[in-house]
Amino acid sequence: MGDFTKRLTERRMHTEIVQGHCLICGSYGRLSWDHVPPQGSITISKVEQVHLTEVMGIDAVPIKGVKSPNGSKFKTICRACNSNHLGANDQEVARVYKKLTKLVTHYFTYASSHLNYVTIPFDAIRFCRAMIGHVLSATSVNECIREPVATPYFTPLQKFVMGDDTAIENTHDLYCWFYPHDHHLSAKMFACWNAGNLCTISVLSFFPLAFSITEKGKGIYPSGATKVELKDDRLFVDLSSGHFPYSGFPFTVLSGNQMLAMASSQAIVSYPIKD
Ligand SMILES: [Zn+2]
Repeated sequence: MGDFTKRLTERRMHTEIVQGHCLICGSYGRLSWDHVPPQGSITISKVEQVHLTEVMGIDAVPIKGVKSPNGSKFKTICRACNSNHLGANDQEVARVYKKLTKLVTHYFTYASSHLNYVTIPFDAIRFCRAMIGHVLSATSVNECIREPVATPYFTPLQKFVMGDDTAIENTHDLYCWFYPHDHHLSAKMFACWNAGNLCTISVLSFFPLAFSITEKGKGIYPSGATKVELKDDRLFVDLSSGHFPYSGFPFTVLSGNQMLAMASSQAIVSYPIKD
């Protein structure tokens, strides 16, 4: 029986495409596969993708995902953007993730530090350029079918990824926090309502770090998050266990005056599988 008893994921409707508009530069042509999480930052393994809305909430039922033998992938950007803007900066993401994994392991193995955070020197522009690029690419191929249009939320992010270091200065804030989970989570855009404050947010999370983009000055982020400034020369990650319940944000329990709204095809969870 096994898999036959499971519902099929809607994600399978969002992966087939040959040509389309690149979700970074907008040009029309052949699209190439982007690994999210990027190669080098995690051990590439067999994974399954589903939509976040299929596995969150009280009605979640077993679901059969889209399988990939070599990591979670999205065919939504052109080859030039993939190699020039993302590939060139993925090395910095890989370096930070490897170093952070070492520090986190040491922290929880020895618990000898009197500090509750770890810090790593990093190139904020290169790190954020790659992470934001992967946020833009991790979505449904259906976004590549329509003509690109300028939007206040995505256009500055696209310009930043394509090399304009100041493009998001007045439009977006960036945050990161410790992410102690083995599934990967990408949510290209969702709206979060928190006690009267409505904010558009993007999240890309894979062990051991979550990264989020928000509208400037709206300030919705989980407890324990650290703001990332593009002029920073170090990354700070708070490892206090008190923040763990919020680390899966937005895949967390809402309480009080809080609400989430998202397009199901834009929020994808992938997790390692054995066969
Ligand atoms: Zn492109």
